[in-house]
Amino acid sequence: MRRVLVTAAASGIGRSVAEAFVEAGDRVHVCDLDEAELEKLEGVGTTVADVADPDAVDRLFTEAAETLGGLDVLVNNAGISGPTAPVEAIEPGDWRRTIDINLNGQFYCVRRAVPLLKAAGGGSIVNISSTAGLFGYPLRSPYAASKWGVIGLTKTLAMELGTFGIRVNAICPGSVAGERIERIIRDEAASRGVSPDDVRTSLLKQVSMRTFVDAADIVGMILFLCSDQGAKISGQALAIDGHTESLTQDNRSVS
Ligand code: NAD
Repeated sequence: MRRVLVTAAASGIGRSVAEAFVEAGDRVHVCDLDEAELEKLEGVGTTVADVADPDAVDRLFTEAAETLGGLDVLVNNAGISGPTAPVEAIEPGDWRRTIDINLNGQFYCVRRAVPLLKAAGGGSIVNISSTAGLFGYPLRSPYAASKWGVIGLTKTLAMELGTFGIRVNAICPGSVAGERIERIIRDEAASRGVSPDDVRTSLLKQVSMRTFVDAADIVGMILFLCSDQGAKISGQALAIDGHTESLTQDNRSVS
């Protein structure tokens, strides 16, 4: 039985991750901004918290440590798409909010998780990055910057925490099938002045396997990393994406 904290788990990938740990017999605590969705969850401890607010994260960890009785696994899942626009059209407030949630939020959670993981004698941190943490991503500069930052944080923490038996890895999902990618496709179509179908086709063309990813693919990797099979894996940025070849504009142009 592991004691697991998953951020932003009222819906999307985080929810699938939390459900999978519960199914595996683990004790799980989650947070989210969305109180109404959070209330629908069963079998997990919940805290309404914005990961970009360090005080809210402090409250989250106080409550989680109490309901879980310690911590073995942290899944830093919270992340937003941020604005889709040329860099000169991006508002500083939108830039800051993207970095605050996607990168600073992971730091706020890690700094509270590490003492608990050390007290447990070791554990696993999984930070959710993105394919956008491995490639430049035109029109999504705050998102790409935040997700590259997540990988820098991950590799540094793996070095700091290795001798404590704490392994730290980043997962880099490609586009996950579902409502979020449909929203991104709509935004990008509007920003580029093309149709959503054109954007969908060009996104698929970036991937060798010509596929989007399922949340289950991400969940499987997270469970593996947090299991005994993953005991010697640390400091990695693992792409789960059907092999992205590039996110460049050329590749995206629709012929
Ligand atoms: P999502 O948009 O479906 O949101 C999931 C949950 O996050 C929601 O319940 C929302 O209320 C919560 N949330 C948003 N901001 C929050 C905050 N500041 N504090 C607490 N909760 C917050 O997201 P998703 O598609 O499940 O993505 C999860 C992670 O995976 C993110 O880090 C995202 O960047 C990454 N990712 C997603 C995709 C994809 O295609 N979906 C691809 C690559 C990486």
